[in-house]
Amino acid sequence: MKNDLILVTGGGGFIGGAMVADLRRKGHTRIRSVDVKPLEEWYQVFNDVDNLVLDLNLKENCERAAEGASEIYNFAANMGGMGFIEANKALCMLSVLINTHMLQAAQKYGAKRFFYSSSACVYNGDKQTDANNPGLKEEDAYPALAEDGYGWEKLFSERMCRHFTEDYGMYIRVARFHNVYGPHGTWDGGREKAPAAMCRKVIEAKASGRHEIVIWGDGTRTRSFMYIDDCIQGVEKIMDSGILEPINLGSSEMVSINQLVDIVEDIASVKLKRIYDLDAPKGVMGRNSDNTLIKKYLGWEPDIPLRQGLEKTYAWIYDQYMRSENQTEQAVVR
Ligand code: NAD
Repeated sequence: MKNDLILVTGGGGFIGGAMVADLRRKGHTRIRSVDVKPLEEWYQVFNDVDNLVLDLNLKENCERAAEGASEIYNFAANMGGMGFIEANKALCMLSVLINTHMLQAAQKYGAKRFFYSSSACVYNGDKQTDANNPGLKEEDAYPALAEDGYGWEKLFSERMCRHFTEDYGMYIRVARFHNVYGPHGTWDGGREKAPAAMCRKVIEAKASGRHEIVIWGDGTRTRSFMYIDDCIQGVEKIMDSGILEPINLGSSEMVSINQLVDIVEDIASVKLKRIYDLDAPKGVMGRNSDNTLIKKYLGWEPDIPLRQGLEKTYAWIYDQYMRSENQTEQAVVR
């Protein structure tokens, strides 16, 4: 129902912000968006939404957020690219407090539906040692050897969701996101992921005239990247579905990091000298999403081409970069 209260946690972040925007577009009139960040740091803020700044590590804050909500989309987590998750394992694991308390709050207030955003980082590292990764199937999460810290927390929280369904009969859907990118997401500061980082580095190189780019690793590692519109559409489809197990939500268009840079250079009409930093955080060798199951259940898979999504992402990051450069210049003049 369009006037049921919908809660989006992590609403000040990338995916949460896009979710709130889409719910509004679809005509939902009662949306509550919650994030721990101060409002001025949210990527998207809408005045007709109930925006709350709360630390959802705390149970009472989860209860405040969940009260009256019929649907909950739980995107709040400590999150970032490889550089961030390798250096902040304890902090990433502490996100378990958010999902635990959100599930308890959802149960207490009788939320009808609950969505949990898991990650491809739950997959067994031994299945990701080859750059020609054939695609990770859902069953490849076990026997468990998840990404240290961040991935183990996601795997544990997936299981908690499963047991809240089995033991308490709650309606819970879980998707394993594979690298999501797009406008209104983290593009600098240390938490950004590869697509946004590459766009920013190429923009910086062009703007500074120093036509070189530092790439983490040797550029041969492979990944797939899902555009934000596909992610939001997938979340909504999975939430409406009867899918009870955690399911891949990712693109199956796998590219190497070098190919990712090729595309961004092409968009920017520039060719840069590549400097490979072999000591930087790199992550697994190869990762791709096997979409057999999602196609079977939904007759759909994320299919927005990488090139198309990167054009929009590059344009947005370009604007952010220029804005921040202008602010720095004005501060110097003052
Ligand atoms: P994001 O960092 O942009 O958003 C997460 C938000 O959660 C942030 O705004 C952050 O301030 C908020 N948050 C953190 N701790 C909080 C707390 N204690 N209380 C309230 N809010 C808190 O990240 P995102 O890319 O939008 O990711 C959303 C979800 O999707 C996360 O659960 C993430 O693990 C998952 N995910 C994302 C990707 C991806 O590629 N972006 C991939 C796999 C999984």
